[in-house]
Amino acid sequence: MPDSQTVKSPKVIIAGAGLAGLTMAILLEKAGIEYQVLERSSEIQQTLGGAIILSFNVMPLMEQLGVLDQIEAISFPIETTMIYKEDMEVIREINLRSNRKMVGYGTQVIPRPQLHAILLALVPKEKILVNKSIESLVQDTESVTVTCEDKSTYTADILIGADGSDSGTRRALYKDLEKDGITPKIIEEENKTLYMSVFGTTDPMDPANFEGLDDDCTRCDTVVGDERGLTYRTFIIPNNRVSWRVDFQSSEMDPEWVEGYKNADYKAFDLKKMPERWRGRELAMMGSLGILFDNTPQDKICKVVLEENIYENWKHGRTVLIGDALEGILDAIVLANLIYEMPISNHKNITKAFDEFYEERFPSPRRELNPTQQATHVMFGRTWLDVAGRYLLLKLVPKYFKEKSRDYINYYRPQAAFLPRVDTKGDNPSTPQRTSKKYANYLKSKGASDSTPAAAV
Ligand SMILES: Cc1cc2nc3c(=O)[nH]c(=O)nc-3n(C[C@H](O)[C@H](O)[C@H](O)COP(=O)(O)OP(=O)(O)OC[C@H]3O[C@@H](n4cnc5c(N)ncnc54)[C@H](O)[C@@H]3O)c2cc1C
Repeated sequence: MPDSQTVKSPKVIIAGAGLAGLTMAILLEKAGIEYQVLERSSEIQQTLGGAIILSFNVMPLMEQLGVLDQIEAISFPIETTMIYKEDMEVIREINLRSNRKMVGYGTQVIPRPQLHAILLALVPKEKILVNKSIESLVQDTESVTVTCEDKSTYTADILIGADGSDSGTRRALYKDLEKDGITPKIIEEENKTLYMSVFGTTDPMDPANFEGLDDDCTRCDTVVGDERGLTYRTFIIPNNRVSWRVDFQSSEMDPEWVEGYKNADYKAFDLKKMPERWRGRELAMMGSLGILFDNTPQDKICKVVLEENIYENWKHGRTVLIGDALEGILDAIVLANLIYEMPISNHKNITKAFDEFYEERFPSPRRELNPTQQATHVMFGRTWLDVAGRYLLLKLVPKYFKEKSRDYINYYRPQAAFLPRVDTKGDNPSTPQRTSKKYANYLKSKGASDSTPAAAV
């Protein structure tokens, strides 16, 4: 084990207790690294929303954390996903049945609040402070200090912004960049497109009224509406429930819908504000959107509106940004591994770790747009670029290239280097796992078995 004279674990502040922030907290907890989560809301538990697609890329971590069974018990694997026009002509069928054989795990559709609750249960309560909205930061070569709305301040070696699409940490970071003479790169569209998504999950419904409701895998349907910019999706989840989302994309969105989109507290969305005509839209699984709306607890429906901005700066000094659900969970694994391995938490090592993090996690245009928007763009967007992208993806790209990129995705299944490794499952090998000298030394020095987490040091 590295000797305690030369090894000083950093102290970390995590902004936000969403899926990404909680994953980061769990990993630092397991790694035995000091941290504090600062959460803007007064309630820690996120109760709003519909389902989230949890891909197999994050399942090895869930297995390492011992929550895979819990996740599988409350979610369904996706076997096929169908894309329809509104007259129910099939645009495309995507078959995911071979996933489990290839990668050993399903791609699960899981209610977002329930996934949040599973992760939250792994973080000691005292590690999350509520009503702490980060507003500004100062950082130098020694430390980073954040100031919250209530004027309280917190100092640490590293600040991780996991505070969602309207990130206060990002705003503070961009001011800091400017102070240091760097102009943050934000590419804004002149005639800005807004993306609105409304999410909900029904109560249990009668399987006689919906095809596939009592199956034990999800039926995942997307309908590209006739109305310009409108798309809606349904996912069957356990207990005869349906998770749904309605996406709308427009540069001239009704101010009523956009109102409060920088939603200070992620309030429930009043469906009465949604156009009445959307209720009648037909579903592929029988029935209409209105039936789903009527069977959904109204206080759990939420709306997210995103602007089409491209943010290019994701780290500076002692501050780094992670996030957006699945991508944020993967970010957290990679970043936690690098922080765990850091010999001394000085400026040089932090810069090196952030550079490595950036290199692994940002090779693609992923960060150019929020991933939620990227998917919406390609599949459902209505600008000429979106249409071209969709056409390319669905029709023109040769099978060979599609399979290549799919294979790349299939191989990426990072694990925490400081937790007992789980066996690679499925026929497809995973990309090489990061190894940890520190963890290996620790196991050796303790004569511990490789089932001992690093925090037990
Ligand atoms: C309310 C809501 C519901 C959603 N529902 C769905 C869904 O059902 N399905 C789906 O596919 N996608 C949904 N999304 C889209 C979203 O991309 C992902 O669900 C996912 O939540 C993103 O995870 P995250 O941890 O990166 O960010 P978030 O879940 O947004 O978490 C960020 C956290 O940071 C906190 N925070 C924000 N600002 C600050 C600050 N300045 N200081 C401290 N803390 C701060 C927030 O209160 C929040 O707890 C939803 C988004 C939101 C906001």
